[in-house]
This record gives sequence, C-alpha cells and structure tokens, in this order.
Amino acid sequence: MESINPFSGELIKTYKEYTSEKVETIIGQVDTAFHQWKLTSFEHRSALMKNLQTKLLEKKEELAFIMTSEMGKVLREAIGEIEKCALVCGFYAQNTESFLKNEPIKTEATESYITYQPIGTVLAVMPWNFPFWQVFRFLAPTLMAGNTGVLKHASNVPGCALAIEQLVSEAGFPENVFRTLMIGSSSVKAVIENPLIKAVTLTGSTPAGKSVASIAGSVLKKSVLELGGSDPYLILEDADIAEAARLCVTSRLLNAGQSCIGAKRFIIADEIYDSFKAEFVRLMSMATFGDPLDPQTSIGPLARVDLRDELHQQVEKSRKMGATVLLGGFIPEGEAPFYPPTVLENVVPGMPAYHEELFGPVAVLFRFKTEDEAIRIANDTVFGLGAGIFTNDLVKGKSLAEKGLEAGCVFVNDFVKSDPRLPFGGIKESGYGRELSAVGIREFMNVKAVVLK
Ligand code: NAP
Repeated sequence: MESINPFSGELIKTYKEYTSEKVETIIGQVDTAFHQWKLTSFEHRSALMKNLQTKLLEKKEELAFIMTSEMGKVLREAIGEIEKCALVCGFYAQNTESFLKNEPIKTEATESYITYQPIGTVLAVMPWNFPFWQVFRFLAPTLMAGNTGVLKHASNVPGCALAIEQLVSEAGFPENVFRTLMIGSSSVKAVIENPLIKAVTLTGSTPAGKSVASIAGSVLKKSVLELGGSDPYLILEDADIAEAARLCVTSRLLNAGQSCIGAKRFIIADEIYDSFKAEFVRLMSMATFGDPLDPQTSIGPLARVDLRDELHQQVEKSRKMGATVLLGGFIPEGEAPFYPPTVLENVVPGMPAYHEELFGPVAVLFRFKTEDEAIRIANDTVFGLGAGIFTNDLVKGKSLAEKGLEAGCVFVNDFVKSDPRLPFGGIKESGYGRELSAVGIREFMNVKAVVLK
C-alpha cells in the first residue's frame, strides 16, 4: 500500500498489507475485547471519549497535515475536519446514555420495555475524501454504544488509518476495542463473512456499496450504506441571488468538490437564471487552486490522477454531446491532479453530467419555468442524498422540502452539512440507514423487548 502526496507526487511511505491470518487474529482480539467493553458503564466510556476529544484538539495541526499530505485537501479545511471529529466525540460522550436508555412500553404485563444492547464488532469500510470525519462519525457512536470496531480505510490514506488507531489507544481505551486492518478492497468479503463480525457500514461509491451489501446479505448481516450523491439545489424566483450564489459556490468547492453532499446541480428559476448564473460563474472563477498548505489556496489537487482524469472525461463527453462549458473544463499544466472550477449548462438527459455524480469542482446549471418542472429535474436521478432550496417563502420551502424533493435531508437557504445532532444518510442509490444523532447510534444495537409478567 502506498501513500502518495497528490500535490508533490512524492511517495510518503509504503505499507505492507496484512495477511489474512493477521486479519483473523485481530478480529479475534477485537471480539475478545468486546465481551469486556460491553459491560463498562456509560460514565466510563464517556470519560475515555472526552480524552479522545482532547487528544484530537491537542494534535489537530499534526493530524491535519497527515490528511493534507495524503489526499490534498487544503490545510484549513483539514484542521476544521479534526475539530468536527472532536465535536462528534463530545456529542456522543454527552448524549449516549439518554439515547440508549430503556423505553417503557405499556402492555398488560407487569412491566415491558425496550432495551438497546450492543451487538459486537462492526466493520467500517471508509473513503478517503474526509479521512478522519467519516471514521469518527462511525467510531464515536460505536464505542459509546459498547460495540467494538474494525476499520478498512481507503487504500490511499493508510497514514490516516493508523493515526486514528493510535489516537484511540493514546486516549486510554482498552486494547483492541478499535483496530485498523491494512487491507485492500478484495479482502473485505472475508472480513464480512467472519462470524465474529456482526455488521458492516460502508461510506463510498454506489458500486462498492452494492458489492458490500450483497456479501452482507448472503451471510445475513446488517449493513448501513452512505453512498454517492448528486445533490440538487432549487433557486426559486424570490431567492436572495447573491447569498444563494455564495452558499452554492461554497458547497460546490468544499474539499475541491470531492464531497458526497456537495451541491452539484443548480436548478434555477427562468426569471433569475441569467443574474444567478453571472454571479455563480463570477464566484467560481475567483477560486484559486494550488498548494494545499498555502493559506491563500481555495482548492487543492484532487486526491488521485485517475479520479481527475475520470472527471474530465465526464465533462468532455458531455461537451461533445452539446453541453456548454461556461468556465474551466480543461486539465491544467503540471503533474499534480488539479481541476479548475468548472460550470456547465445546456446539459440534457443522456449526458454523463446529467446522470452521474461529478466528484470534483464541476457545477451544472439548469433552467426551470414551473415548480413541477424543477422538482422533476431535481428528482430525475438515481441518487437521493441531500438537497437545497433557496427561497424567501419559508412555507413554500418547507412544503417542497418535505413533500417534493427525494433526499435524506433538505436544507432551506443554506447548504447541506452533516451535524452530529441530525440523522445523516440517503435514499435510492445513495444508500440506506442513518449515521449520527440518536437514530445513527441505534443502527447497530439489538433493539430488545423485555416483558415481565
Ligand atoms: P470507493 O472507491 O467506493 O471506496 C470507498 C471504500 O470502499 C474504500 O475503502 C475502498 O477500498 C472500498 N471499496 C471499494 N470497492 C469495494 C468493493 N467492491 N468491496 C469492498 N470495498 C470496496 O469510494 P471513494 O472513491 O473512496 O469515495 C468517493 C465516493 O464516496 C463518492 O461516490 C462519494 O459520494 C461517496 N461518499 C459518500 C458519503 C456519504 O456519507 N454518503 C460520504 C463520503 C463519500 P480501496 O480504497 O482499497 O479501493
């Protein structure tokens, strides 16, 4: 396994993949740890989780640097990501006891109630785009719930994977409650099939999700899938155009556009199309790409050359089929996999830019004449992760958010963000199940009914 700096091209380090024997040994150790860990009190787990929160904040610059070196995100965003990991640790340290307390249910018995009990070791298969945040939003609820975890991280961020394992240990958690498995994706099947693994969660692409879900299904293990997205944003006629354009551009360029919940498709009312487009293109054109360690840089390189080339092919193919490139759409000179902020319009069904997720700084603008048409375009996708609406009419915003848009969450007058207090996840090919909040922590619990006659 190689860790390569996408900006400099430098080989940071080579890691040896674990053998299947070593993986089995670790899973055995994690299962042994589970049987002790599940007996610990919430108070004890909370104290350790708060230590982890403190460690993250103490080491945030060092950890952010590992991230930036391995996958190219700008350092400022990497530091923000570590702070968010600390937030989720604090959130579950504070709230798990109330999320998982027994719930009385009235029946004719003397007493009946629901109790939430841990199920064992959960496998997490994670992506490189938010290499700390994606793991921590699994790790914090998993350990607080009394479960144990093993991590198979993306192959291009092994340094992050090992740093997370190390942090858990430094925070004082018992040995083996959380371990990293240094394995490639072809070894995931055997891990899911291991009888000591009780469930699996994957954050990544839809094809990876389908593969993991089918393996989990074949051995009847629960899975949670957080997959791709092509989030639509409706810009209604009465929206504040400048503010909407600013927030839409911020979302589209976050993490150099490599975010599952990045705003990707902008569906704009005919009356304001030209003014929104002008402001949107102006703001997109102001973003600078360059060294992710330089505080002046807005967007770093994409994580790998193959990912950048794939994105450019989606743009090129759409352009050849009739899409208009308003900005960007070229491969910049140099070795690093940069892609410039790019804006497309006149995108129609059949083009890659219409149907596929564009995992980089590429935006697609659509025009609508009626709200029904806007909803039809927004929902004309296999994805259903997040969505946004910009309007000054909050009653209309609520109605479209609740009943119109097919998505796991809708933000009105803001862009979609993950928040420990709110459930996060998608519908359709964006996956199933939820992370975060009380809903997320209950995904991998035995919801046990107890009845006393
Ligand atoms: P990816 O290629 O699917 O990889 C994600 C993880 O799955 C990696 O650890 C990868 O391992 C593993 N993997 C890939 N194919 C697999 C298979 N057939 N069986 C088992 N494991 C497999 O995705 P990515 O390129 O890293 O991440 C980008 C995608 O993730 C985008 O589609 C994005 O929208 C999505 N994403 C979704 C969310 C969400 O919360 N919904 C959040 C972030 C990202 P290797 O690295 O070893 O191949």
